[in-house]
Amino acid sequence: MPFISGLACRECGRTYPVEPIYACDFCFGPLEVKYDYEAIKKVISRKKIQDGPPTIWRYDDLLPVSRDKAIDIGAGMTPLLKADNLGRELGLRNLWIKNDAVNPTYSFKDRVVSVAATKALEFGFDTLACASTGNLAGAVAAHGAKARMRTLVFIPADLEAGKIVGAAVYGPTVVAVNGNYDDVNRLCSELSDSRHWAFVNINMRPYYSEGSKTLGYEVAEQLGWKAPDHVIVPVASGSLLTKVWKGMHEFAALGLIGEVKTHMHVAQAHGCAPVANAFNSGQTHTKPVMPKTVAKSLAIGNPADGYYAIKILKESNGSAFAVPESEVAEGMRLLAQTEGIFTETAGGVVISTLRHLAREGVIKPDEQVVALVTGNGLKTQEVVTQYARPVHIEPTVESFDKHMDAPRGGLSSPPAGSERLN
Ligand SMILES: *Cc1c(COP(=O)(O)O)cnc(C)c1O
Ligand SMILES: [Zn+2]
Repeated sequence: MPFISGLACRECGRTYPVEPIYACDFCFGPLEVKYDYEAIKKVISRKKIQDGPPTIWRYDDLLPVSRDKAIDIGAGMTPLLKADNLGRELGLRNLWIKNDAVNPTYSFKDRVVSVAATKALEFGFDTLACASTGNLAGAVAAHGAKARMRTLVFIPADLEAGKIVGAAVYGPTVVAVNGNYDDVNRLCSELSDSRHWAFVNINMRPYYSEGSKTLGYEVAEQLGWKAPDHVIVPVASGSLLTKVWKGMHEFAALGLIGEVKTHMHVAQAHGCAPVANAFNSGQTHTKPVMPKTVAKSLAIGNPADGYYAIKILKESNGSAFAVPESEVAEGMRLLAQTEGIFTETAGGVVISTLRHLAREGVIKPDEQVVALVTGNGLKTQEVVTQYARPVHIEPTVESFDKHMDAPRGGLSSPPAGSERLN
């Protein structure tokens, strides 16, 4: 049985039973899962975690559901890779990439949905649904299929083709809404009042968001049981950032790692940067924006956890950056050509933010940095088609040699130079 003692309002502290609810009746504050840490402390250990499955479920003592009935398609325990090539380009000697692009549906959303789908079944729901910026749709569709639930995913109609196909293949009802994510979310909130459905990021949000903590746990475990000096997080609603922070602090409080001295950094794209804009202008609350960005997975103009993300930036002495739109694809290219990792636009935003922080000296050369790469580039191919320029030849050695001698492109150009493909 999970060690949850109930839900509590993040604003007024009022407590609630473990039910599919998400907002406080009194102050409308968001509800959060509360744990019995004394009980957890008695059973948890590094060894117990290491002896667990190679998935998020190795951390089940700190999740709001137990793992015997988990809807598990293998989310989590993704590689944490030392990025020496990229580090050399940026002047960083202790740089790590957490490659969450290799989760079952190719984004970190499998972590949150695995937890939410398990909880939804536990509550007795037969329908799983979500309001998605893209990656959530794929994760909900896949876990809904595995759970044999009826599944509906609501998306903005202008989503990338790879994300629509990547959800549709699992057989959900895909509802393409003429509007942006904030419109989709508003519609789903209304629907959740009248339908008895489990909306993973609405009425299941307290449970769903806990899944993101596992990214923080894994980073700490994979670094040899310690928190890094810096973490760079792509921000949409802000939930991931707040939960990575929470996860590392839980580990410290349980004695699994030492004190957390991590600086948290927000990465957003210029065309939708409500958290970065608010933080950098000294505001505590975000001002809603109309998203206009190539980083569609981060296109939330009115982020639910923006206020809490900003609080953590202050508390952790962190920073926030709004990447120019033109540098999103450049970040994707840089990571692919230095580390062999093909990330989507959100990852491009993270790598461009990392480069900015290194240049500005916010991150010192020997500090340990983890950049969270949360989604896969195959889903957002349209933004990097300019790099697809094959050398066309006839099937003869002569033709090959002739084209290889040509000055532009091909095998004779220098490796990893920034002019290489431009
Ligand atoms: C959803 C998503 C995020 C951010 O999620 P929030 O928790 O809403 O801030 C980051 N990266 C990718 C690829 C995503 O799909
Ligand atoms: Zn309250």
